[in-house]
Amino acid sequence: MIDSRTDMNLLEDNCSRLRAVNLRPTKQRLALADLLFAKGDRHVSAENLFEEAKQAGVAISLATVYNTLHQFTESKLLKAIAIDSNRTYFDTNVGDHNHFYIEGTDELIDMPECEIRIENLPSPPEGMEISGMDIVVRIRPSRKS
Ligand SMILES: [Zn+2]
Repeated sequence: MIDSRTDMNLLEDNCSRLRAVNLRPTKQRLALADLLFAKGDRHVSAENLFEEAKQAGVAISLATVYNTLHQFTESKLLKAIAIDSNRTYFDTNVGDHNHFYIEGTDELIDMPECEIRIENLPSPPEGMEISGMDIVVRIRPSRKS
């Protein structure tokens, strides 16, 4: 499916992607970057990515996957979206956008692009300004009455 030239390009892309944010392109970081950035925009949890890595034959621990995801997030290669204290998704689309969270299947999907207006949003405390707003709307299959 992927010829070796595409593979090579991907490898070089991810190498420069990491170098551009001052992360040393170690073998493990590159392996995870390949899994993360090869398939377009996606939302993954550390556990999902760990499973993918295992299936791809990448020798890596869950702890390293966690650390790498957090390093990528600090370097703005990923955006972290916390659903609750033990569920965080990492989004390869770091642009401004909001999400639907599907209860039951634990899936995070992008909201269709539209301007969301929140009425009566309180002003931030004195001396503070709003730097961003991430909206996660929880959804579930509608219940038939
Ligand atoms: Zn997203």
